Amino acid sequence: MASALRPRVLKFGGSSVADAACMRQVLAVVREALPAAPLVVLSAMGKTTDALFRAARAARGGDLGAALDEAEGLLGRAEAALREVAGGVAPDEALSALARERDALEVLLRGVAMLQELTPRTQDAIASTGERLSTLVFAALLAHEGVPCEHVDAREVVRTDATFGAGVPQPVALRARAGERLAPHLGPGRVVLTQGYVGATEDGLTTTLGRGGSDYSAALLGAALDAEEIQIWTDVEGVLTADPRVAPGARPLPHLSFAEAAELAAFGAKVLHPATIQPAVERGIPVTVRHTQRPQGRFTTITAAGRAGRPVTALAHRGPVTALTVHSTRMLAQAGFLARLFDVFGRLGVSVDLVATAEVSVSLTVDAGAPLGPLLAELRAFSEVTVVERRAIVAVVGERLKHTAGLGARVFAALSEVNVEMISMGGNEINLSLVVAEDDAPEAVRRLHRALIEAE
Ligand code: ADP
Ligand code: ASP
Ligand code: MG
Repeated sequence: MASALRPRVLKFGGSSVADAACMRQVLAVVREALPAAPLVVLSAMGKTTDALFRAARAARGGDLGAALDEAEGLLGRAEAALREVAGGVAPDEALSALARERDALEVLLRGVAMLQELTPRTQDAIASTGERLSTLVFAALLAHEGVPCEHVDAREVVRTDATFGAGVPQPVALRARAGERLAPHLGPGRVVLTQGYVGATEDGLTTTLGRGGSDYSAALLGAALDAEEIQIWTDVEGVLTADPRVAPGARPLPHLSFAEAAELAAFGAKVLHPATIQPAVERGIPVTVRHTQRPQGRFTTITAAGRAGRPVTALAHRGPVTALTVHSTRMLAQAGFLARLFDVFGRLGVSVDLVATAEVSVSLTVDAGAPLGPLLAELRAFSEVTVVERRAIVAVVGERLKHTAGLGARVFAALSEVNVEMISMGGNEINLSLVVAEDDAPEAVRRLHRALIEAE
């Protein structure tokens, strides 16, 4: 890198790039950022990734017709957008790139249907199509509008391991690739464009970072390039005090600490992918969350320190999860009990969200998709286990939580009519988590929001 140019990363989510009109709004935002040497990272258009997953499942089920229909639907939408952004006549080059995507997707779906087998590796090859279609359309729009653009395939940059479906980024290789493939093209007045969500192994096999992973891509690339800021452009004015679909009174937060944002993301605030914050933390790069349709509106800035306001910053909730209570009367006598217990989870690759311990029992929650059969078989070899499914975690998050006396009482007063089954205070003391029945979670969030946030 010639100088200490610090680019600005702008990531646009699915709803921001849903069609040609949305793409034009993205262009308006990108134009404003041109002096800041923008790296633009795009998600797939609208719900394209969901459609690709449906197509893959239909093919696995042997229904090739449904799979190809689904594929044709999303390809048709991309093609319509392509023609529209290019003023009616798309350039041949873009049309042939689209045709290559169409052919590749069809071959993959036919293969899956023929074998009725869908490996994570094939699933990634299929799912990654969405982001490539979306950057293809946006590149055509930039070309049509005369904005200089370098369009880079993320697979040349975002190196991951071979964990298909949840590729683990390899930061050293990624940084080197970003230095070679992106940095030389970054500069004021031009756009460097790439896909979110998509990566590749050392051998060039396509991987993905997991659902919602474009935020993570933006953060990884921003960290690799020492960006001045990582901007997450979406359909809300920043991170709100709760999921706005659940708590109508939710309002945008101007400031959030990295730790608070990480807790909220981990406990279900879909607005940020849970892994997004880490790369930014490591390099101290601020992350902002902004509304694409209201670029001059409010937004959230996430930095190391945040800016403490009220005791509770925000709420998040996530479900379904499964709650397990592991009971052993011999537990007290056994010093190594917890080690033995967690060894089972470790070996089976099941991550534990919350833990609460009592004298002779340990309660914990795991993802609803965890392999309960093998887990219970191993645990029951040395303890009694009760299982309660369809639970949800409600997380109360705030940097000032630990200094606020009487908060627990207020939480329980607010939830007097909701059955709270488990409580856990996060190790970092900024997260008080509760387990409730999944059906009770929205009401619990609304009540807590009124009592702890709206009443302040
Ligand atoms: P994108 O496609 O831009 O990545 P997402 O749908 O992944 O957008 O994330 C944005 C959505 O996250 C919002 O529309 C909102 O419904 C949801 N959401 C959940 N919790 C929160 C929160 N605390 N603040 C803001 N949005 C939230
Ligand atoms: N398109 C991917 C998904 O829908 C990644 C993303 O949008 O962040 O999961
Ligand atoms: Mg998202």
